[in-house]
Amino acid sequence: MSCRYLSLVFSLALLHGQPPYDLVIAGGRVMDPESRLDAPRHIGIRNGKIAAISAQPLAGKVTLAAAGRVVAPGFIDLHSHGHTNEANEYQAHDGVTTALELEVGVPNVGAWLKQRAGRAILNHGATASHGASRTVALREFAAEAPGWIDSPDSWRELMMKGRYKSMSSPEEFTVLGATLERGLREGGLGVGMAHQYYPGATREEIFRVFQMARRWKTPVYTHVRSMGADAMQEVIANAAATGVPLHIVHVNSMSLGELPLVLDLIESANQRGIDITTEAYPYTAASTFLETTMFDEGWQQRLGISYDGLQWVKTGERLTEKTFQEYRKEGGAVIMHFMKPEWIARAMASPFVIVASDGMPFAPGAHPRSAGTFARVLGRYVREQKVLSLMDALGKMTLLPARRLEPMAPAMKNKGRLRIGADADITVFDPASVIDTATFEKGLSFSTGIDHVLVNGVPVVRDGKTVPNVFPGQAVVGNYGKR
Ligand SMILES: [Zn+2]
Repeated sequence: MSCRYLSLVFSLALLHGQPPYDLVIAGGRVMDPESRLDAPRHIGIRNGKIAAISAQPLAGKVTLAAAGRVVAPGFIDLHSHGHTNEANEYQAHDGVTTALELEVGVPNVGAWLKQRAGRAILNHGATASHGASRTVALREFAAEAPGWIDSPDSWRELMMKGRYKSMSSPEEFTVLGATLERGLREGGLGVGMAHQYYPGATREEIFRVFQMARRWKTPVYTHVRSMGADAMQEVIANAAATGVPLHIVHVNSMSLGELPLVLDLIESANQRGIDITTEAYPYTAASTFLETTMFDEGWQQRLGISYDGLQWVKTGERLTEKTFQEYRKEGGAVIMHFMKPEWIARAMASPFVIVASDGMPFAPGAHPRSAGTFARVLGRYVREQKVLSLMDALGKMTLLPARRLEPMAPAMKNKGRLRIGADADITVFDPASVIDTATFEKGLSFSTGIDHVLVNGVPVVRDGKTVPNVFPGQAVVGNYGKR
């Protein structure tokens, strides 16, 4: 669309006394999973909100060209451990506009939100952390919990102390409840429960936390107790018994070969009105810290791999029995190559499995999911392998995660959609070339084919380049105590 034409549109608008929009995204293929709109449109943005979606050209103070591009709602990542602006930059280049820490949660929601206020590139939010709260209840951690788990060290400090200890006294449950409730009052989006990392949590403790969540009318987001359908059935039973909305994280890595069974379990529970959602990332390897309980006795049998199936993130080397012992003492991130490509394809093809990265941009290397998850789905699973349609893929990255959060955060009704009045969180990409570039050897690398990414109407990526020194990210907070 020539400049001369755009200036004509601009002057015509002024002639008719219409103030130009703050920004216009011109001539793209607008795809909105909620309305199923899929047509060439121009989008006008004013005050951070979508103000117009028009078949006619619009006048804007700034115009971003989108001819031949798809214009979609910004991607919402329910499962991200990267909450620094360095991490946000990789996520933004992967089309993400909202990155949330729901699985593990944060120990001190209020301090964490304060820390990020006005300084964040992406929208952000977190759950109240069951793992950190039980550490406090077990008197394993007395000090005022810091805002954020931003390194393996604080992980070790907060998530792993007391991991083999079980709750026994009513006082401990009272402190646990009070600590979690405080997190919700400070804006937590639910309870984050990753009890595979603290096997001391008995079935009773887990059920009691579900009962607390019912009282607080808040969801539970969980990394279940162990791999396979058993652990899934524990939390599905608790959700059925309490009516608590449940979100099961990374169903791909926690189901192993039982993925079809687990997806059937979730689907039939949904058909009976039990509110359960789940997610997956498009990689055949997982990642966590070598010092965690994941690698306690019997890990080879559980994962079905041995030392050479483990890749040390710092160096990229595959482990041996000797280096396993050495690095486990030292502690640090490891990549675990144990999943089959057909499991991932099955999860990506499922209409209700949400796309979420589980990004952990801690180490210099890091698992490529931190930077490439969303472009990988669009490039490899939609375009190359045709496992799912473009519209369905976009729905699993935008509308479904937004809907998952709405009961606790009504503000999410304005995200994950392209409609008048919605937040202008928008991702513009080239469906013919969008692809991930991050690999297991080089985990932090920008995806390509993502042209423009807007957060609340502010470009954070423009023409494929980072827009420096802009921090339009806002907190997504829960409405506990405000209902
Ligand atoms: Zn996890």
